[in-house]
Amino acid sequence: MDNNFLQKIVSLAKRRGFIYPGSEIYGGLANSWDYGPLGVELKNNIKQLWWKKFVHQREDIVGIDAALIMNPKVWEASGHLENFTDPLVECRKCHERFKADQVAGTDCPSCNAKKSLTVPKSFNLMFKTFIGPAEESSNIAYFRPETAQAMFVDFKNVLDTSRKKLPFGIAQIGKAFRNEITPGNFIFRTREFEQMEIEYFIAPPQSDQEWQEVFEHWRKAMLSWIKNDLKLDPKKVHELEVPEKERAHYSKRTIDFEFEFPFGIKELYGLAYRGDFDLKNHEQASGQNTKYKDPETQKEFWPHVIEPTWGVDRSVLAVLVNSYEEIDGKVKLKLPKKLSPYKAAVFPLLGNKPELINLARKIYLDLREVFLVAWDERGNIGGRYASQDEIGTPFCVTVDFQSLEDKTATVRERDSALQDRVKIEVLPEYLQKKING
Ligand code: ATP
Repeated sequence: MDNNFLQKIVSLAKRRGFIYPGSEIYGGLANSWDYGPLGVELKNNIKQLWWKKFVHQREDIVGIDAALIMNPKVWEASGHLENFTDPLVECRKCHERFKADQVAGTDCPSCNAKKSLTVPKSFNLMFKTFIGPAEESSNIAYFRPETAQAMFVDFKNVLDTSRKKLPFGIAQIGKAFRNEITPGNFIFRTREFEQMEIEYFIAPPQSDQEWQEVFEHWRKAMLSWIKNDLKLDPKKVHELEVPEKERAHYSKRTIDFEFEFPFGIKELYGLAYRGDFDLKNHEQASGQNTKYKDPETQKEFWPHVIEPTWGVDRSVLAVLVNSYEEIDGKVKLKLPKKLSPYKAAVFPLLGNKPELINLARKIYLDLREVFLVAWDERGNIGGRYASQDEIGTPFCVTVDFQSLEDKTATVRERDSALQDRVKIEVLPEYLQKKING
């Protein structure tokens, strides 16, 4: 795979309304992307499936949706103000900036000027803003660089209102902001992105085995999501044991789940054991009790945390890359059926026969009650199939003259291109079964 391949994805995404360059009519804004009508459906389907799997279908997890701008003291306590930095070097000649760990030596990788790179200095990745009309230092605030801290800050409120007992988790989906030095590779690394995160709280482990078991549970749950929900090719997914010197000091174990993107093997998701670092720090910094009280022993303690974290945009990109197939210049997006923007498309065989259009229209409207359905009456059927293949619609339903007589329609399946004749009255159940099965 190469960047040529990435370019194909980028141009398909733009051409068919998945993802556009942000602010394009003003010449764009570097590395910002907007999700179009199909992209927002794909992204929402991923988020909804995740929420269903990890919140609705689990008794031990509840969700929150916190503010993007939190009290700046949160970032002091979490260590982000001090440590959420990347080492930055700049070329004295062309003024291009790089992450120091991505360049070797002191020559500029961009303009090739010799010994032109400055010594590395720490650059904080948090986006700064001011609250209220006065731009004074006392009004400085930050856009959250991760969703995780809200789960710690709201821990007590969630505990008191949900009456959950350990072990339990708090989940959140939302935007995070990082002033990345080198964004790029389409939606892989942007300055504004979405995360799906869970903080899973357990009693302070009495042995390594206790936290390791929970860690293993989440490792398997993440792999199952990758394999069974996103349906990524397992051969392209790799687990990286993050070595101690690269882990946060409070983390006893961290795994990165990596995917073979067209531009290299890169992080898709992460899983970390964070100990009691966060809750403890927030109690010390806020002066408020953030401990859990065991209902049986009445003992108070800070729970320990296992943190699985998923990037939404990297999920979208991995799914697009994994689903893309091109044969004889024709693109087929073999999206997992549950994730496809449209679950079906409905066509009248001919676009100028009112009796076909009327029946097809009725089927279309009935199906739309169940899921999102496309309508197309232009051109020949082959062209319409190809157009739906390109956006990953798993089923096309065609109404022809036989339909008027025997009340059946042709259902054509995307991946096999096989056709089936199905009674119109059972179409919604028929399709739903195939999509969910
Ligand atoms: P990286 O090493 O790629 O910068 P990270 O280890 O800093 O990522 P985390 O802080 O663990 O990332 O964030 C959790 C997840 O959020 C990542 O696994 C990734 O899916 C996503 N993510 C992080 N930074 C970005 C970004 N700039 N753009 C898009 N997604 C991101």
